Amino acid sequence: MSTAQIFADHTTARVGGPAGQWIVARSEAQAIDVLQSHPLPDEAVRTAGQDSLLVLGGGSNLLVSDHGFPGTVLQLAFTGLTAEPVGDDAVDVSVAAGHDWDAVVAWTVERGLRGLETLSGIPGATGAVPVQNVGAYGADVSQTIVEVRVWDRSAGDILMLRDKDLEFGYRDSLLKRTTISGSPRYVVLSVTFRLTHQAGPPLSGPVRYAELAHALGLDHTAEESARRAPLPYVRHKVLELRGSKGMVLNAADHDTWSTGSFFTNPIIAASRLSELPERTPRFSAGYSGDGQALVKLSAAWLIDQAGCGKGFGLSDGPELGRGADGTGLAEGRAALSTKHTLAVTNRGNASTEDLLTVARAARDQVQQTFGITLHPEPVLIGCEL
Ligand SMILES: Cc1cc2nc3c(=O)[nH]c(=O)nc-3n(C[C@H](O)[C@H](O)[C@H](O)COP(=O)(O)OP(=O)(O)OC[C@H]3O[C@@H](n4cnc5c(N)ncnc54)[C@H](O)[C@@H]3O)c2cc1C
Repeated sequence: MSTAQIFADHTTARVGGPAGQWIVARSEAQAIDVLQSHPLPDEAVRTAGQDSLLVLGGGSNLLVSDHGFPGTVLQLAFTGLTAEPVGDDAVDVSVAAGHDWDAVVAWTVERGLRGLETLSGIPGATGAVPVQNVGAYGADVSQTIVEVRVWDRSAGDILMLRDKDLEFGYRDSLLKRTTISGSPRYVVLSVTFRLTHQAGPPLSGPVRYAELAHALGLDHTAEESARRAPLPYVRHKVLELRGSKGMVLNAADHDTWSTGSFFTNPIIAASRLSELPERTPRFSAGYSGDGQALVKLSAAWLIDQAGCGKGFGLSDGPELGRGADGTGLAEGRAALSTKHTLAVTNRGNASTEDLLTVARAARDQVQQTFGITLHPEPVLIGCEL
């Protein structure tokens, strides 16, 4: 199927201009057909953002320019899920790229399979989850993915990438690092997760995240066996917490018209902490290649403390974001969520440029106040921060 389409109708931020051609692949074979006629162009073409193919799942981590994308959009919409027992206490669940992610999580929780429960309520399709190693509440998909089946646009063939080949990092993977200006080398066709189960009432994995542990009535510092809760209860609490922050899609709530977190949490050398206020929240983040201790900072905290609180950009939001004429930074059409400072939201009739105006102001304010550079989490197509 190919009809005139605009990104605003296919992205969760509901912004973005027209596409040259829009193909919805309802089967893997159909997707491969299109991919075969769109081999990987050379690096210069990709770096210039001139690849004529854009792969789309649910459009929840994508910001496309108001001018749109002149090439072909391939929307992966094929679904399906199979489960294969592995020994006595594990199951490999293989999921087609177009399958709704939260439906997968719900399916596994209903069957007492442990491993994905804290990743409830994240929008988008399953094929996208390995790309940025989707994570929330102390878990990410690198902990359960065993294998990803991809179309390699360079070789023009199907390839199996095992977990160790995928080089997962914080919101990062080989798949993301080989995507240049939105042009992917590898297109995910299906993903296999290894999940576990046990005799008796199904319990979650040990909860690591303090806020979730608190909501569940657990102590996140307790030993592992005391940090588990019934799987459906964990899913319920995660959805509740996410809902309170505008992080579950709801058409009636403009705080959810976003790409989720707009910025990744910055990771800096621990030695730089002396430049920041003592009260700055920090989390240990391992070591750099040259052995330096690293810490992860909270982008939401930095934004808030830099004067860009909830509702920044609205005429009745924080003073700094009201704009010179008091109508808001983009005349109130875009703003930080009124529930969470990390989401840049469309208040109803925003453009991509409006969202970027608010995001730039928050980024610059953090740079000026703390000397920390924030980087965008969503993929930007035809536009930049
Ligand atoms: C309200 C809200 C809450 C969110 N919460 C979280 C969260 O808690 N944690 C988190 O990590 N993310 C979160 N996100 C971001 C987003 O939901 C995830 O990154 C999600 O996995 C994106 O899936 P998608 O199908 O919508 O990807 P799209 O937006 O369609 O695509 C994103 C990128 O992945 C590429 N891509 C998509 N599918 C494939 C494929 N099959 N093969 C190769 N490349 C592909 C696209 O080309 C694009 O570059 C949130 C977003 C929103 C709107």
